[in-house]
Amino acid sequence: MDQPDIASNIAKVLLEVRAAAEKHGRDAESVTLLAVSKTKPVSAVRDAAEQGQRHFGENYLQEASEKIEALSDLELIWHFIGPIQSNKTRPIATQFSWVHSVDRSKILRRLNEHRGDDLDPLNICLQVNVSGEASKSGVAPQELAALVREAGDLSQLRLRGLMAIPAPASTFEGQYDQCMRLSECFYRCKELDPRLDTLSMGMSADLEAAIAAGSTMVRIGTAIFGARAKRS
Ligand SMILES: *Cc1c(COP(=O)(O)O)cnc(C)c1O
Repeated sequence: MDQPDIASNIAKVLLEVRAAAEKHGRDAESVTLLAVSKTKPVSAVRDAAEQGQRHFGENYLQEASEKIEALSDLELIWHFIGPIQSNKTRPIATQFSWVHSVDRSKILRRLNEHRGDDLDPLNICLQVNVSGEASKSGVAPQELAALVREAGDLSQLRLRGLMAIPAPASTFEGQYDQCMRLSECFYRCKELDPRLDTLSMGMSADLEAAIAAGSTMVRIGTAIFGARAKRS
């Protein structure tokens, strides 16, 4: 695979974010770029950090821990965005600033328990299964309210908002429709907790639709770091 030009890819993605925001009447400053570096080497993260990129997303704990350790000289903000096994909540709670993929009560309680009070509260997004696919992780929209209320009572967590990985759609309208489902869940949750400020949606293929639908954090891997090798 060719080496991706990470500096120019980041510049391109930031321009796309700005263009999408302007086109859809949003302030570009209200959209944070989360660079998804899973499967990519420490050197690629360093290249992105040199461009001023601060937020990085990882899916696999072991791999992430190694990068966090190797890059501890930089002040990066690490987001865990992968499936969470309940026996991994301690390292996740202590090594990351954000967790986007919380979809059940047990995980909320364990992250709260393991986040020491020497650290700032852990930022949390609840992952929602907006497409209703049985294979997708995420809480069903009708079960969200209970989790929002529960998170509000946990002192070491700060509930920030919602995250989804919508089913792929090939048209803008199809993507927008999927993203609006999460957006509607978000506004209902905000009535329960007005402090919520984060809508984590939009990947390389649906960035514009996600911003049109109100995303405040786009999670971009491929468009920055190039295609990923299949995980064996
Ligand atoms: C891999 C991944 C991304 C990035 O996807 P790209 O299509 O490479 O931009 C975003 N969010 C989650 C949860 C991921 O697992």
